[in-house]
Amino acid sequence: MFKDWLKGFVAGFATTFRHLFRKPITEQYPEYKRTLPARSRARIILTCDPDGDERCVACYLCSAVCPVSCISMQSAQREDGRRYPQWFRINFARCIYCGFCEEACPTLAIQLTPHFETCEHEVLKLVAEKEDLLVNHGGKNKEYNFYRHAGVTMVGDKGTHVNEERPIDLKTNLP
Ligand code: SF4
Ligand code: SF4
Repeated sequence: MFKDWLKGFVAGFATTFRHLFRKPITEQYPEYKRTLPARSRARIILTCDPDGDERCVACYLCSAVCPVSCISMQSAQREDGRRYPQWFRINFARCIYCGFCEEACPTLAIQLTPHFETCEHEVLKLVAEKEDLLVNHGGKNKEYNFYRHAGVTMVGDKGTHVNEERPIDLKTNLP
């Protein structure tokens, strides 16, 4: 018992002692800014597909999954059947940058970026509207286009779309 205690005690102080002679690493922020990994979770953007159309289809999944309920929107529909958010709002004063919204998004529209310098003196300035969130590029996945997979309206038979399997002929399952 005493032996274990002594072992822990000595190991603890040995670690402290080792660090006493290490060269300190001090980053002079904001003069020096370390490049963060691309998947760092900070400021949120709404991306566009390769055709330049906004990817968001106003499905409300991000809003439903958000643990602090800081996403709200109103859906609308174009004449060709394509859905979009009439308005889209994120309250960054509440956002905890968990990334659940990005995980839930079926169209890769909503993405978190490494841009973390978003502090404001006035809390209302942390409420971002669609105009503040929308960017003219595809973010982490530039090529993905949801409507090339899903189609705005059903064109062609089942199994003729990108990555879609042909339906099973049920008669082949009969004994
Ligand atoms: S990162 Fe998390 S808290 Fe922030 S908007 Fe997305 S789901 Fe909500
Ligand atoms: S950002 Fe993605 S999950 Fe949120 S409403 Fe738009 S398409 Fe749906």
